Parts: sequence; structure tokens; C-alpha cells
Amino acid sequence: APAAQWVESWPDDVGADRVRRAFAAAYPAEDSDDGDAGAPEVRVYAAPGRVNIIGEHTDYNGGLCLPIALPHRTYVALRPRTDSIVRLASAQEPGAAWTGRLEDVAPGAVTGWAAYVAGVAWALGQHLDATGGSAETLRGFDAVVDSCVPYGAGLSSSAALECSVAVGIDDVAGLGLAATDAGRATLAAAAIRAENEVAGAPTGGMDQSASLRCAPGHALLLDCRPGLDPARAVEQIPFDLAAEGLALLVIDTRAEHALVDGQYAQRRATCEAAASTLGLANLRELADSVIAAAAGNPGGDAAFAEALAAALDRLPDDVSRRRVRHVVTEIARTQDLVSLLRAGRASDVGPLLDASHASLRDDYEVSATELDVAVEAARDAGAVGARMTGGGFGGSAIALVPAERASAVADAVAGAFARAGLGAPGFLLAVPSAPAGAC
Ligand code: ADP
Ligand code: MG
Repeated sequence: APAAQWVESWPDDVGADRVRRAFAAAYPAEDSDDGDAGAPEVRVYAAPGRVNIIGEHTDYNGGLCLPIALPHRTYVALRPRTDSIVRLASAQEPGAAWTGRLEDVAPGAVTGWAAYVAGVAWALGQHLDATGGSAETLRGFDAVVDSCVPYGAGLSSSAALECSVAVGIDDVAGLGLAATDAGRATLAAAAIRAENEVAGAPTGGMDQSASLRCAPGHALLLDCRPGLDPARAVEQIPFDLAAEGLALLVIDTRAEHALVDGQYAQRRATCEAAASTLGLANLRELADSVIAAAAGNPGGDAAFAEALAAALDRLPDDVSRRRVRHVVTEIARTQDLVSLLRAGRASDVGPLLDASHASLRDDYEVSATELDVAVEAARDAGAVGARMTGGGFGGSAIALVPAERASAVADAVAGAFARAGLGAPGFLLAVPSAPAGAC
């Protein structure tokens, strides 16, 4: 059987060193805008990818999700310029260096990976213009990126890139936003705008909030209700896996599926139409009322099922009924999982992870063969629970495993992939890690 391929994270000094050396190679001293003498120093920043424990396809429904920051980070070496020029290079995008001017960056004006970086500068400029400052306080910069966050694996390499740049611009421009959680919420909002409006990816807000606002040893309970005060939207939930003898194994299926973007937009549209049929602003309002019907009710499960069925009866077709059932039950599972973590019962969350997977596979229909093989093989090898994570149709799965079983479970999953004729997956160990910051 093939051995599991592990994707190691980089210690901060290793990541910082790589990106500094790449910076020196990309922008030799004589090439800098004012020569060597008096040139500002190169500073290094990093931001993590994330993995969501539970609460999938709930963010855009105003629901709850529960990401942690990965130990895998994207590093950016950045040197401010005196003009408005931005020069970018990435070790992950050889041959695709980019140069532009800040005043030319806008939705639709930048294509390719540079949109995630230039988009953050644009969005922060918009923020300054809207809050009594001026986008013109932002100067250009030279930057080089390198990363150990797997690409396109549902672990949010895009937010890791945006948020490393966001804390970098914040620092060199002296905005001071990264110093407080409220300021970090502002940086997250800018990164979300960069991704939605400049890179053109219509994702929810979980990834950027996780990358900027997570804390080591904690999961971030993120309440995505629109208009909620950012300070009230997050809560740190202790998630000390090691203390409970557990490890969180991430399985990057490395599966590539077409049509993913269209499917995501379709799910969103179905949920929005269902909410409007029910006369609600979003499906979170339905979840809250269904959960309230069960709360404090002896036989709460039956009351929950009855209240949910009554709402589903008002929807016109089976597909929207199943999509809505996923969203409502997933929000309830997220609350239940948080209650278990608060009670120090992390090892009891397995059935909730398993139920989340079944709901995403059967009701929301966003799983894929690779994800189903991964979770079943992990459970067979001793995981306490497993589920697909992220948007679906490929990407990654998570398995909560007794710590001493982590490598055996990974080997078992690698073997199951080989027997099923699937390409080799990658494996990460997800310890809840630090948010974006300077190195
Ligand atoms: P995910 O966020 O799940 O990894 P996305 O499709 O949202 O997948 O984001 C991946 C895209 O983000 C890449 O195609 C690239 O454009 C950009 N990106 C992410 N990390 C980097 C990086 N280190 N260097 C350059 N571009 C990056
Ligand atoms: Mg992404």
C-alpha cells in the first residue's frame, strides 16, 4: 500500500527566510525605486489557511460556522515604495509576475492571482475614502509571496494570500487595524471585498474572518447574520485537541472537478429563493425558529423535526426542501458541537461530524466520490468522526482521530484511494494556530 503523503507546515523563520531570499532575487537593490541607500526595509507578514470544523454552506445563509486557523501559512515579503506602483511575484505562480498602479486597480481591471493582492489595496483604499481618510495615503509596494497552504484544496489559500497582504499594508501605511479585533474585522471586510469584487469569486465571509481573527488553541464560532456588529459576530471556543488526546487530520483529495462555481451559485440561489418563499430574510431566521421550538421542550428532537417539517411543507419542490433541511440542521449541529466543546467533550463530537457529511452528501449534494471514500476509510480506520469540509465537489475532508492513530488513519485513507483508482491525496495535521500577523 502507498504511504501517506504529508504536507508539512513551515516554521515561521523558515517561511520568512524563503520569502526574503525570493524578494532579494526578484528585486535586486539597483532595481529598487530609490537605489540601495535609504531604501525602506523589507518586512515579512504571514497569514494562515483555515479548515472549517462544522457549519458548511451556512455562511451565506446568515448561519454559523466554526473554522480554525491552520499551521500552514502564506508569507509575503513587502517593501513600501514612494510612488503608487505595485510589483508582485509569487513562488506559486512562476512566470506570472505583475506590475500595475494603485489608482488603476478596480473591479474588472485586474485578472489572475494579482487580483487577490491588488484587490486588498483597492478595498482598503475604499475603506479609507469612506471613513474620512483618503485612499491616497496608501503607497505602492514591491512584494513576493510564498506559501505552504495547498492551492485550491478548500483550505483557503486565497484568504491566506489576501490576509497576509492586508496586515502588511496595514503596517506599512500605519493604519493600526491589526492591533485590535475590531480593526481585524475591518481588514477581513476589505479582504472579502477583494475576493468578491476584484478577484470575482462570490464566496461567503468565513475564510477571511478565520485567517485574521482565529486564536491558537481555539475554534472561531462565527455568526454570519448580516449587519451584526463584528465584535458580536465571533466567539473563541477552546479547542485544545492535544489535551483531549485527539488530532484533526485534513485529507486533501486533490480532486479536480469542473462546474464547481456554477454549483455554488446555484445552491446560494436556491437558498435565497426558499427564504423568500418563507417570507424570511435568510435561512438563519428559519433555523432560529425551528431550534427555539425544540429548546426546553421535552422530546426536543421531535419538536425540532415537527417545526422543520412544517416549514419544508411550504416549499414548492423536493430539491429546495432538501437544501433547506441541510442548512437548518447544519446550524443546529454547529450549536450542538460548540456545546460539547464548551463542556470539554471534544471526543463526543464524532456523530455530529458524520451527520454533517451525510447531510452535505444526500441533502445538499455537494460531496464527491473522493470525499466519500476519504470519510469512510477514515472512520473504518478508527476516526471518531469525519466529514467533507469547504464548498465540496473535491477539496478536503477532515477526520477527528485519537492522536496515536493519526498516521495509521492517513495510511488507511491513502490505501483506500489507491484501491479505488484515485490519485494520491495529501495529509495535514490541523492544530488550531495563530492568525495573520508580522513575522
Ligand atoms: P482555495 O482558497 O481553496 O485554496 P481558491 O480558488 O479560492 O482556492 O484560491 C486559489 C487561488 O488564489 C489561486 O488560483 C491563485 O489565484 C490565488 N492564490 C492563492 N495562494 C496564492 C499564492 N501563494 N500565490 C499566488 N496566488 C495565490
Ligand atoms: Mg478560496
